[in-house]
Amino acid sequence: MELLLKNANLIDASGERYGDIWIRDGKIAEVGKNLIRPGQSVNLAGKIVLPGLVDLHAHLREPGQEGKETIATGTAAAAQGGFTTICTMANTSPVIDTPLLVELVKLKAKAQGWVEVLPIGAITKGLEGKEIAELGLMHQAGAVGFSDDGNWVQNAHIAHNAMKYAAQWDLLLISHPEDSSLNADGVMNAGSLADRMGLKGADPVAEVVAVERDIILAESTGCRLHLTHLSTAGSVAAVRRAKARGVRVTADVTPHHLLLTEALCDSYNTMAKVNPPLRRQQDCHALLEGLLDGTIDAIATDHAPHKDEEKQTTFDAAPAGISGLEIAWPLLYAHLVETGRIPLATLVDKMTSGPRRVLGRELILAPGERADITVIDPMALAVVNPAEFVSMGHNTPVAGWKLAGLPVMTIVQGEIAMLNGKVGAGPAEQPVAQVG
Ligand SMILES: [Zn+2]
Repeated sequence: MELLLKNANLIDASGERYGDIWIRDGKIAEVGKNLIRPGQSVNLAGKIVLPGLVDLHAHLREPGQEGKETIATGTAAAAQGGFTTICTMANTSPVIDTPLLVELVKLKAKAQGWVEVLPIGAITKGLEGKEIAELGLMHQAGAVGFSDDGNWVQNAHIAHNAMKYAAQWDLLLISHPEDSSLNADGVMNAGSLADRMGLKGADPVAEVVAVERDIILAESTGCRLHLTHLSTAGSVAAVRRAKARGVRVTADVTPHHLLLTEALCDSYNTMAKVNPPLRRQQDCHALLEGLLDGTIDAIATDHAPHKDEEKQTTFDAAPAGISGLEIAWPLLYAHLVETGRIPLATLVDKMTSGPRRVLGRELILAPGERADITVIDPMALAVVNPAEFVSMGHNTPVAGWKLAGLPVMTIVQGEIAMLNGKVGAGPAEQPVAQVG
């Protein structure tokens, strides 16, 4: 396919400029001004063109829980949300803990996926925290990182050995920092609200202790450590100190931990149940500061779809998780960029270059680069309507919230995955007459 994107604002790690991009054979063939090339062209005046959004943390539930989400529906939601690449967590059924299973996820994603899927393998077999999985072989099969997400590797000896091995082969370990010995089955943030509601609290200190231990082990082994979905001010401070002394640590935060507080759990709203739990306003502030000063490298969705009926139960019984792939960008654009709390360049960095740096791959809008591109319409508004989600998971605590700066086109390796809010509506079905 050949496609000429004309008259757009181009924003990437090299800055902002105005111009055209010619896409051919899956790559950016040319970037310039007033280009005239064969094939289709589309006028993107007023639109913003970015390197494709990347999500470091998504749960697509396949294999094993296809009633919640599949690789096909989850990647469609990603394309809808402007993502061109997503990393999928290993806690499926079976757990992705062998090279064969890594290959299976890749094959399925290639056949049925709308965006690029990068599998994350398990650190320990079965996520049981006992025996280290075949990290090297999984890496060769295409795993871009390793995580027992949901089950922090509680045993320090095993975590230490995993990091020693990872350091030797320069593998990326991703930690969901939560010391379960300090958490006592908490279902929401510990404190006076949880006490008043009669619910067990998850103490922020359980996260900070896990963050600090992992940082110490990473420092002593030289392992590349990525801490995912930080939720507390104490974690941000710990990562800031570690980075200052040169530890190879990176971190991400979710949209919900940036924007929402535990107050949403009041009235036993199961849509606000998530792990780590929503915390307090001072934590949101600390996370935002961490984004702005570079302590936090990326924004990741922790997209965790569940069936409607699973959330229609008591707060204790409901599964934790929020479906977030398709609204992450426009939610943050509306509530952080348009409100002046962070510059547009910061949001772009944390959702494009930041996650790519964690993975050790960079992409700018330049000739020869892969044509993974997201087009944003800064004037396009909407509200969150879970009934219209492409994802099978409609579980979100932000129904009715404002969205702005909607993604209007997602191009994955030169092919249009989403156009004007329709996944799979590319030139095979209709010419790109208009965008936005
Ligand atoms: Zn997690």
